[in-house]
Amino acid sequence: MKRYHVAVIGSGLGGSACALVLAKLGYDVLLLERGSHPRFAIGESATPVMSKKIRFLGKKYGIPEFDELSTYDKIKQAGNTILCGPKELFQYYIHEKGQTDYAPEGEAPEVIVQTPEVDAQYYRAQSDEYMVKLAQNYGVHYMDRTSVSHLEFASSGVTVSCERDGVNFDVEAEFIIDGTGFRSIIGEKYDLKIQGDELKTPLKSRSIFTHFKDVGDFEEQLLASPGFQDRSPAPRARATQHHCFEGGWLWIIPFENGATSVGLNLDMDRFPMNDKDAEEEFWEIVNEYPIIRQLLSGHENSMPFIKTGRLQFINREMVGDRWAMLPAAAYGLDAWFSTGLAMSFMAIHRLVDLLTQKVFPTGNFRRELLVDYEKSLMREYYHVSKMIHGIYKSFRHFDVFRHYCFLCFMGAESYMAKGGIEQGMDMSHLLLSAGDPGFIEKFNAIYDKVIQFSSEQAVPQSEIQALSDFIRFDMKEYNFRNFGDPGMHSMHPRVAMSC
Ligand SMILES: Cc1cc2nc3c(=O)[nH]c(=O)nc-3n(C[C@H](O)[C@H](O)[C@H](O)COP(=O)(O)OP(=O)(O)OC[C@H]3O[C@@H](n4cnc5c(N)ncnc54)[C@H](O)[C@@H]3O)c2cc1C
Repeated sequence: MKRYHVAVIGSGLGGSACALVLAKLGYDVLLLERGSHPRFAIGESATPVMSKKIRFLGKKYGIPEFDELSTYDKIKQAGNTILCGPKELFQYYIHEKGQTDYAPEGEAPEVIVQTPEVDAQYYRAQSDEYMVKLAQNYGVHYMDRTSVSHLEFASSGVTVSCERDGVNFDVEAEFIIDGTGFRSIIGEKYDLKIQGDELKTPLKSRSIFTHFKDVGDFEEQLLASPGFQDRSPAPRARATQHHCFEGGWLWIIPFENGATSVGLNLDMDRFPMNDKDAEEEFWEIVNEYPIIRQLLSGHENSMPFIKTGRLQFINREMVGDRWAMLPAAAYGLDAWFSTGLAMSFMAIHRLVDLLTQKVFPTGNFRRELLVDYEKSLMREYYHVSKMIHGIYKSFRHFDVFRHYCFLCFMGAESYMAKGGIEQGMDMSHLLLSAGDPGFIEKFNAIYDKVIQFSSEQAVPQSEIQALSDFIRFDMKEYNFRNFGDPGMHSMHPRVAMSC
């Protein structure tokens, strides 16, 4: 029986990229996928951390195609024909129920932050298929339409029992990487998943999403508003648009051919789970917000609406003797700030370093050698989910949101400025500065305020001023773009940074 060094289960971008890196480093890698490509996957919007991390991994391991995939501009320069889109802005707009005026009195309730480079919107059916092919070019043995029915862990290795086209067979591997996303095959096998009230994060959100063939042009309507002065550093068609309202938000992610990903995200304190049909509930909520309705109604969806339950879960353990989970299998978070792909590539960096520097060279496959990896993911999970919880609660008051939303950028930019992209397994360089005690202390102070404001009818101007001062002066060392400075009008063009 063929014995692999590593079997990766699940060929999403995370699983395939991880398999590819290990194969490039000379390991014998098997990649198992129960479906086949091309197939739909959610998680389409990249971020600066993702772009820089994949590029860094490309350089570190000698995989030029990672660099070519790292931003929209690089994809185009390389002549790669996968469907994608440019992401040059994070754009946020806060809607009131029934609001029809795009810019009341010439002012739009909008925040824009420009990305350092033009990141990519990945149409995952094509990017994931591309990554699988690339992995095969680098020597990964790939088997699709293959279900893993059983994993037998022993001190000498792992037996993976598979079924393909009605035929059952076993393969042997020394190590298993669970890249199966929220299905989390190892979490299920060992009953490790924590969900529901047992979960120690305040974030409770769910999602309803689909693809539209195209959507209306937000910018056109906004620019036509009387008295509106546009200060955006780039067209909003090159943005991930976030249409926020009390209790939720909706993403609009455009691809180049007009196809557009649209997803409604709901705070379950405000919108508890129910048994309404996905499409019916989507329109019921969207219809309360005329500007969003105008963008979407009359446009056709190109796939059925998908409605999730609560997105958050975490596994009690994320590594074990002879196995580890990639982040999307280890926990469920939320779409806000598009942390998923960044996390996947950060985790690949950590895991590959641990496997190639500690585990394989010593032949010691025990959990204790990997436990820092688990600790890093857990710390990031609780930090980022708390930050996102604050975001949902901040939507009630635009003046609160337009300051608090910068915490995500400050966490990400500080991580990059302090050299996080180059670091593998290092507990002081974690996503959104989860490894920086100074940042966390300051973040917690603001978070507590935001939660307090969320139950108040109005927030005094003195409190908003204090929020702005805190971000500008107390958090100066994390603030690279004059966030909170009234002179910026909540529009932040890219600046040169040392990362
Ligand atoms: C609503 C929502 C919105 C999101 N938006 C963003 C975003 O904008 N940006 C971002 O960066 N991230 C986002 N994410 C997170 C993102 O989806 C994941 O981080 C990303 O897809 C991780 O990829 P992956 O390869 O680890 O897993 P996946 O893409 O989930 O791939 C898992 C693969 O495993 C296969 N598989 C499953 N079970 C088995 C099995 N038993 N045997 C074999 N194969 C199996 C599946 O068929 C699939 O191909 C979002 C997540 C959600 C839920």
